[in-house]
Amino acid sequence: MKTIRIAKGYNLQLGGRPSTEVESLPEPARLALLPEHIPFIKPRLLVAVGQTVRQGTPLIEDKRNASVRFLSPGGGRIAEINFGHRRVIQEIVIERDAQEQAVAFESIAESELETFPRKRLIEAILAGGLWPLIRQLPFRDYAQMELEPPMIIVGLGSLEPFQPLPEVYLAGKESLFEYGLTALKRLAPQVHVCAPDSGDSLPDRLSSLVSLHYSGPYPAHDPGVILYRVKKSPEENRAWYIAGQDVLLLAHLLKTGTYPTERDIVLAGPSATTRKHFRTRLGVPLADITAGRREEGDIRHIEGGVLSGFVGSDQTYLGFYESAVNLLPEGNRKGELLGLFRPGYRRPSYSRTFISKLNKNDLVYDCNIHGGDRACIACGYCAQVCPVDILPQFAYKSILAGEVEESLEHGLLDCVECGLCSYVCPSKIELAETLHRARVNYYIEQSK
Ligand code: SF4
Ligand code: SF4
Repeated sequence: MKTIRIAKGYNLQLGGRPSTEVESLPEPARLALLPEHIPFIKPRLLVAVGQTVRQGTPLIEDKRNASVRFLSPGGGRIAEINFGHRRVIQEIVIERDAQEQAVAFESIAESELETFPRKRLIEAILAGGLWPLIRQLPFRDYAQMELEPPMIIVGLGSLEPFQPLPEVYLAGKESLFEYGLTALKRLAPQVHVCAPDSGDSLPDRLSSLVSLHYSGPYPAHDPGVILYRVKKSPEENRAWYIAGQDVLLLAHLLKTGTYPTERDIVLAGPSATTRKHFRTRLGVPLADITAGRREEGDIRHIEGGVLSGFVGSDQTYLGFYESAVNLLPEGNRKGELLGLFRPGYRRPSYSRTFISKLNKNDLVYDCNIHGGDRACIACGYCAQVCPVDILPQFAYKSILAGEVEESLEHGLLDCVECGLCSYVCPSKIELAETLHRARVNYYIEQSK
């Protein structure tokens, strides 16, 4: 077994860690698909308000590749289709009915799986709406099914506050997980199951499946960071990856022929009054998770991890890729998600000049941006924390100067969008956001 040790990065001392307790929530009355949260797709609507759908009915397809479809997480009636700016489809809301019906897809017996033709396996995953769970580095769009990747990275656990724990979501589902890994091995010559070095909380049966351990601060768990450390040639840059819990969804679809809907979610963060795992469904309303479990007042709802998630509210739903709701005090002034973290006493800080660096207790974060923009002071903090050895301040300057080639030379494509450079920058320069936008533009240009 290989262990990779990653020195660079930074652990946020965020209060509000979830426990391993699991509570099953009642079935939600409504569910939704949020196309807006799915990167790069150009959705074409396949349903209309009032239409009856089954669990597994296609709701949208991607105009770039119509075989990639996103399916209904429940059976019932399309209650709402909400559009945003420029008619971007934000939400497709399904009102569940009591006799929820499900579409039947092809199922594959365990005995057949090891020799099942790769092309037919891909077709089965596409038909069952779960192909987008497999994503491709470095841009993190869904995987290009016409190519064979050098490897698939399966990530168990996350160092970003806060995400479901593998010892919770995999408990009792070891066989299903093994089935899912067998399916993935039909798609790529190598499948690496990655877990933290301290992963002694996993039962022996799951530990034996782990092929690569990582250690280090956030974001050592990130598939892009792991690939950066293990790759032997540039051809390996287009590796695929999938989250551990999503392997279970994939396995459920292929084994049973029904679209899976169960999802373990964590509710966490300093403003959550109950912090634990909840067993519920894909596309659940956030209010079903947070009602009666949050502090009063102005609270920011983050769907997903604190550094990479979406800002939501208790009126929204959980997206296709999200499995966490983190609640933080809003701070009563407007702020940006990646501007959450600003220095000062009792506030988290990277700079050694701030007293909170010495505070070993979990800190309470809020969403104030604490002041306006300042110039780069060449402190080098952004480069010190970057887990893939980019010099973010130079990449940033190249992007602003329109020097794309130069930003690529500075490692733009290796960026894993962890947000740390923005977090540590004492001048509050939007490094991570600027690199993210440049990567998206570059990818879209290359895909034309
Ligand atoms: S440049 Fe990218 S990978 Fe490096 S710290 Fe910034 S966001 Fe993270
Ligand atoms: S952390 Fe901010 S101020 Fe310091 S070198 Fe990087 S960009 Fe400049």
